[in-house]
Amino acid sequence: MATAATPLEMNWLEMKWEQMYEGRNPLIVTGVFSFLMHEFVYFGRFIPFLICDFIPYFQQYKLQEAKINTNEDYWKCTKKVLYAHFVFEGPLIFLFHPFATILGMKVSAPFPAWQQMLTQIVIFFIFEDFFHYHMHRFMHWPPFYKKVHKVHHEYAAPFGIAAEYAHPIETMILGFGTVGGPLLYHAATTFVFKTDPSWGLHLITMLAWIVLRLFQAIDAHSGYDFPWSLCHWVPFWAGAEHHDYHHQAFIGNYASSFRWWDYLFGTDVKYRAYRKRQAEEKRKLKMKKSL
Ligand SMILES: [Zn+2]
Ligand SMILES: [Zn+2]
Repeated sequence: MATAATPLEMNWLEMKWEQMYEGRNPLIVTGVFSFLMHEFVYFGRFIPFLICDFIPYFQQYKLQEAKINTNEDYWKCTKKVLYAHFVFEGPLIFLFHPFATILGMKVSAPFPAWQQMLTQIVIFFIFEDFFHYHMHRFMHWPPFYKKVHKVHHEYAAPFGIAAEYAHPIETMILGFGTVGGPLLYHAATTFVFKTDPSWGLHLITMLAWIVLRLFQAIDAHSGYDFPWSLCHWVPFWAGAEHHDYHHQAFIGNYASSFRWWDYLFGTDVKYRAYRKRQAEEKRKLKMKKSL
């Protein structure tokens, strides 16, 4: 593959990246690498939560303590998710490379500066969350809910790998928030604003964004809210504490990553009242115990 940088200017990661593509069909390399990365991150990120299930100490951090997910739940979900990954998501993952390179996405080293990657990933998070909020809210429209979105709501007490447990139509629609954002960003910077080409989309940025988006989705469905969870450090971050309520109540809290749209549109009123009641009950129980 033709590169702008000489091997001496490349870092270790960039060298490995180039070696991976050397003499191979780039469409196949990107497809296989992206698919394997998706599987590895999706199931790998779930393992720490699965381990927590077997350690009594961590049960105090479960959001819905009374509901226990069984091995059968995990197994059924794994089979369905794997089927969806191979049959629906896999082909779409393979289509990404040809489609994105037609638009001019860069694949070869050097990689963009970390500041550029960070800026772009922040934009992708904001776009995805906005898109997700509105589409997810629409999916709760009864005729659509019954036919499509109901599948994702099978688990009222979700667990990590339930994140992508959904009807294929839902996967396609919400997937646009994840994949469409970077493509729209690239088209806008390249064809509308005509920015410096270095601000265009690079495949490595896309992959980093997918990894972070997977972390977000699996964390949000984990069923655990730890004192060290991100939402306790970044107050506008949604996390499991926010999305778990959506599965529990089947209404409200429609956003994926951030809390602002639900707050602005008032779709978190019941959630906030519920958490307030919960905190009050916990406080009373503590007082009773100390007497
Ligand atoms: Zn929903
Ligand atoms: Zn969910």
